Amino acid sequence: MKTLTKAGSPKQEALEIVITELERSLMVLEANYQKAVSNLSLLRKCVETDDLTRLLRRGAFMVKLHNLVQNSAAEGREVHVMMIDVDHFKSVNDTHGHQTGDVVLQQISELVSRFMRPEDLAGRYGGEEIIVAMQGGKVEAQAVAERIRSVVESHRMVSRAKVEFKVTLSVGVASSHEFGFEADSLIGRADAALYRAKSSGRNCIIVDYHEVVAA
Ligand code: GH3
Ligand code: MG
Ligand code: MG
Repeated sequence: MKTLTKAGSPKQEALEIVITELERSLMVLEANYQKAVSNLSLLRKCVETDDLTRLLRRGAFMVKLHNLVQNSAAEGREVHVMMIDVDHFKSVNDTHGHQTGDVVLQQISELVSRFMRPEDLAGRYGGEEIIVAMQGGKVEAQAVAERIRSVVESHRMVSRAKVEFKVTLSVGVASSHEFGFEADSLIGRADAALYRAKSSGRNCIIVDYHEVVAA
């Protein structure tokens, strides 16, 4: 009975060919796998991102906010939600046109993004409303809100007709420290604080219903 195949024998050569073919197939599979992974991540980014502002879409933001709130509760870390609304934005559209209004929204979103750490969340909540969520202390969240308000206030916008103008923001901030770890109630509180910022004269920040931090 033949138990060993000599190197170079026809059987050995046939096996070497099968191995080489399998290696090639694995390389093709690996390349296709990498392509699928990168396509999936592109698709995910596309699905999660608002076309105009490049911020998170509202649905994607909500999913991530629920996770952030849950994780923060487990870790005992505070979470802040900020509702940011452009003041008198309708009059920007009325005066300079909707295309300029779109550019203003893009520029504000870009300015907001500059203050975001990789773990922070920034999304487009509605038309000209931006929502932000971040872990950390109240003082830190207030400082970020104030920097965003201030940088937008001093940013020179330019219309399509090359007219310079400025816009301001009103911001409502709510913290889990005050209102508990529940995403929807944090949003509701931040929204109520935003309404108070509007009725306090706009271009200001209201934190947890009480304080006017900047005006
Ligand atoms: P307030 O200070 O009370 O927030 O006043 P406002 O004018 O900003 O608020 P209002 O709700 O009256 O108007 C919001 C405007 O935002 C109306 C709407 O046409 C405009 N808007 C919403 N989404 C977009 C958008 O994607 N592009 C443009 N150009 N305008 C938008
Ligand atoms: Mg609004
Ligand atoms: Mg507005």
